[in-house]
Amino acid sequence: ALHLVRVDLDDRSYDIRIGAGLIEGAGTALAPLTRQPRVFVLTDGTVGGLYAGDLEKSLSGAGLDMRLKAVSPGEGAKSWAILGEVLDWLLSEGAGRDDVLVALGGGIVGDLTGLAASLMKRGMTFVQMPTTLLAQVDSSVGGKTAVNATQGKNLIGAFYQPALVLADTGLLATLPTRERLAGYAEIVKYALIDDPAFLDWLEKHGLDVVALKQDALAEAVAISCRAKARIVSQDERESGVRALLNLGHTFGHALEAVNGFQSSLLHGEAVASGMALALRYSARLGLMDITDACRAEALLEKAGLVTQLTRVPGGPYTSSALVEAMKQDKKGRAGKIPLILARGLGQAFILPDADLADVGEFLEGEL
Ligand code: NAD
Ligand code: ZN
Repeated sequence: ALHLVRVDLDDRSYDIRIGAGLIEGAGTALAPLTRQPRVFVLTDGTVGGLYAGDLEKSLSGAGLDMRLKAVSPGEGAKSWAILGEVLDWLLSEGAGRDDVLVALGGGIVGDLTGLAASLMKRGMTFVQMPTTLLAQVDSSVGGKTAVNATQGKNLIGAFYQPALVLADTGLLATLPTRERLAGYAEIVKYALIDDPAFLDWLEKHGLDVVALKQDALAEAVAISCRAKARIVSQDERESGVRALLNLGHTFGHALEAVNGFQSSLLHGEAVASGMALALRYSARLGLMDITDACRAEALLEKAGLVTQLTRVPGGPYTSSALVEAMKQDKKGRAGKIPLILARGLGQAFILPDADLADVGEFLEGEL
């Protein structure tokens, strides 16, 4: 089944197409976006090795020549130096504003490609072909692009929207299990933010999503994209509700930071634990019922994600290190930080001034 999600923004809108086998029609989908007989494609070595051939075949079927560049897999590709290499490549190939630049890969390739597209001649046409579950439900939607700096992640970036997103859920078949689960955590996040009906659905079909049963998978990706599109269209530049998308991310980022952003703890794994912590902290503050927090934990655990602080990969984590990381991350004043909490399942809200000392006591109790 093919799903279509329309992202409506103030000045423009675009489609997200979701379903198995979309790569075969990529040429037909991209041809209307360019008057040039070629398409530029940026990927990483792993994804390129698996799928660049299929994409090339589809493009050539539509009369389009593929110009491919592959970066090394890994967060290192999101750097100023590699961004420069990509821009040099595009310029040396004579790429112009009316050329299409495709990101074929996960969030790393997507973030790097989007930023390159925004800078080339002040903006060339950008298309996302996300190949990880995380990229299909999160990073390819919303227009945030970036590379990292030595001072921190995603510090050099731009808001730049794609003209089209093609999410071929069939490509996820080759994704390692841990990466799948990490993406699934972000799917659960949308249910926990504002969609209790989706939570019910995930309790029934979540394991089919993780097992890549195509109907359930495409449906979950579509619901997630629709949720993110809805939130982003209300607040493209993150001055308000877009912060809800950070549910579980303040605790999660702290875990990642203490772990030194190593691959022993994937972002989505950290977010799964972070969401469980945010819900349990909400229960501690008397905002929501602890049995609801347990229900969300059970959903995550059933899929194979960790929700207990003592079992988070890359640990052990101390409460003092986590609190310090949260303080650095949020630059909160006078011991307060903004935190996304919940009044119930599907009822997340932004608490602008959570008390860090109290959060520290809570974390201490979790250890
Ligand atoms: P990733 O791009 O590194 O992909 C994970 C790994 O899977 C890589 O080794 C990649 O080569 C491999 N891979 C990708 N697709 C595959 C496939 N179909 N089959 C087999 N292997 C495949 O990581 P990610 O988790 O997709 O993205 C993480 C990045 O996304 C981070 O840099 C993060 O900052 C960024 N991000 C951005 C946003 C945003 O809004 N722009 C949101 C969330 C995350
Ligand atoms: Zn995330």
